[in-house]
Amino acid sequence: MTGNEYELETLAVRAGIVRSQFNEHSEAMYLTSSFVFDNAAQAAQRFSGEDEGMVYSRYTNPTVRMLETRLAALEGAEYCVSTSSGMSAILTLAMSLLKAGEHVIASRSLFGATVQLFNNVLGRFGVETTFVEPARMDQWRAAVRPNTRLFFVETPSNPLTEIVDIGALAEVAHDAGALLAVDNCFCTPALQRPIEHGADLVMHSATKYLDGQGRVLGGAVLGRRDVIQAPMTGFLRSAGPALSPFNAWVILKGLETLRLRMLAHSESALELAQWLEQHPRVSRVFYPGLSSHPQHELAKRQQSAGGGVVSFEVKGGRKEAWKVIDSTKMISITANLGDAKSTITHPASTTHGKLAPQVREAAGIGEGLLRLAVGLEAVTDIRADLEHGLSQI
Ligand SMILES: *Cc1c(COP(=O)(O)O)cnc(C)c1O
Repeated sequence: MTGNEYELETLAVRAGIVRSQFNEHSEAMYLTSSFVFDNAAQAAQRFSGEDEGMVYSRYTNPTVRMLETRLAALEGAEYCVSTSSGMSAILTLAMSLLKAGEHVIASRSLFGATVQLFNNVLGRFGVETTFVEPARMDQWRAAVRPNTRLFFVETPSNPLTEIVDIGALAEVAHDAGALLAVDNCFCTPALQRPIEHGADLVMHSATKYLDGQGRVLGGAVLGRRDVIQAPMTGFLRSAGPALSPFNAWVILKGLETLRLRMLAHSESALELAQWLEQHPRVSRVFYPGLSSHPQHELAKRQQSAGGGVVSFEVKGGRKEAWKVIDSTKMISITANLGDAKSTITHPASTTHGKLAPQVREAAGIGEGLLRLAVGLEAVTDIRADLEHGLSQI
């Protein structure tokens, strides 16, 4: 099934299904480490790649393959490899495409562990990364070197929901002879398909909205077949950050409700963002679906909805922000996002706590900032839970 034939909602439910001899209706979970060959000759052909059948679940498993096929259909990608987590997806992408002496340009507004991976892991193996302001095309252009091979960005960014024009950035990357990779964790293909806008690679933390219910870790890298299939399957085979078939099955079933969930997250997030914007204790709200967002027009062109993450600044500082968190009775105090359960975080003391205060302030992450990942509870209950704390400051 492909996107030329079917709509996204249909692909999310049906793409990639391979049935066994029992013709089960729901996707089967193949919990097996290896696969049996009919004879020695077939074993040899499987190992050489002449026969494309299953060998060993480190790099071939039918449940995992179903997930990869479905996700590729959703992103409009030629090929997908899945991995044990979002971080191992970025590792797989980098280790498959880069070598010592090459250079990466990345957005300054990335998931914390991604920054650590580029700086502290890849940096030790001779891959250098320059960080730039994501929306400033001039900074990306100025950072290009003859050995620049990869551009890496998240849009919308975490936690301030800055939007990057994927098409414009793809042009800068291609002029530099580099590939553009987009971490599409916040929007998922239900709201944004970066490859359509010119990105070469998409990566996912499937842990977030793709599972959508906070159950398992997983990751994926998608793109053109020549960039993904041989290099990345080769890396998985040699290095082993494989997705478990159980986790693949959970994520596969999560995809069936992806569009419904993303629209529900977005609808509640917009409603809460509009309410917060009017609230006397709130000084600023960051949400791409608000017409006050500085890149609202770009967000509307690039995304079909605003997504589930709303950040807002309460008047005062850390004390007032913590008061709001500690007064909640329902919303979970946890740094995760993309769950059916709403979560709240104080970025300055958690996810961005390692940054020097001046760096943090320069990045716009103030002491009064809170990040809310809006879940699927009744929006009235989420609002009432926030109001407990807001009314006390
Ligand atoms: C969580 C997250 C990751 C890392 O994914 P894991 O599955 O936790 O390894 C990468 N990028 C973004 C934007 C994330 O939110």
